Amino acid sequence: MEIEKAAELGFCTGVRRAIDILERAAREIGPLQTLGPVVHNQQVVEGLARSGIKAVESLDHLQGNILAISSHGVSPQVLEQIRDRGLQIVDTTCPFVRRAQVAARRLAQAGFLVIVFGEESHPEVQGVLGWAEGKGLATLEPPRFDKMPRRIGIISQTTQSYSGFARFVASFIGSDLATLSELRVVNTICDATRERQQAALELASRVDLIVVVGGRNSANSRGLAEICAAAGVETYHIERAGEIDPAWLRNHRRVGVTAGASTPDQAIEEVIAKLKHLDR
Ligand code: SF4
Repeated sequence: MEIEKAAELGFCTGVRRAIDILERAAREIGPLQTLGPVVHNQQVVEGLARSGIKAVESLDHLQGNILAISSHGVSPQVLEQIRDRGLQIVDTTCPFVRRAQVAARRLAQAGFLVIVFGEESHPEVQGVLGWAEGKGLATLEPPRFDKMPRRIGIISQTTQSYSGFARFVASFIGSDLATLSELRVVNTICDATRERQQAALELASRVDLIVVVGGRNSANSRGLAEICAAAGVETYHIERAGEIDPAWLRNHRRVGVTAGASTPDQAIEEVIAKLKHLDR
């Protein structure tokens, strides 16, 4: 069995940056807590906990007076609550998420209804909607309006697929253009997502089975699995090597491995080692 890794996979610059900031802060100021998991990967969260960096569900669960904001960012309303409590902030918001927040605020202030192509419950999307100052909504399906807004601004969750975003935007042009006076699209999908999706598609053209390694609640890992499956390749999304079922490998000679932007190298190498072991 041949095993091939995608040309781009695993940790992105935003996740590496967030972990570096947190580890440096923990060394300099001691144990600290993050508002929600800093990234959507259990191994990373467990590793940080061993360095004294723990996630809390809400501000009410915080102990101490230092709070780290995750790479997914927060809304201005949450920022205000943090400041009102007099907490010291360690901000690991990814610059690409920050860019989406700025785009949402500018569109809202210019009078656009901001539509975020993304998962409404995802923390990044929740934060971005906050920057739209109450003039936004998030959806993965083209919304239906009783009365079509005249000005619509569309942005994307940073980790959505390009093809999905393109179809979403096209649906407005196809059915609603006559009723719109202005449609503005800001491409806020991040570089790491684009590179990993492209590499996964190229890999899918060369293998007959793909294993995607990444947290189940990681939007970009799920996106990679969807892209590979849509390319017609048998695809499995796992978090850890122990989830590989030997039966998957029967009758497959070329196996590809890719991984989401929050998946540590160690998790990827463990999956490859397990695949090699099962091939003996
Ligand atoms: S996946 Fe993109 S938006 Fe998310 S942390 Fe990485 S670079 Fe930033």
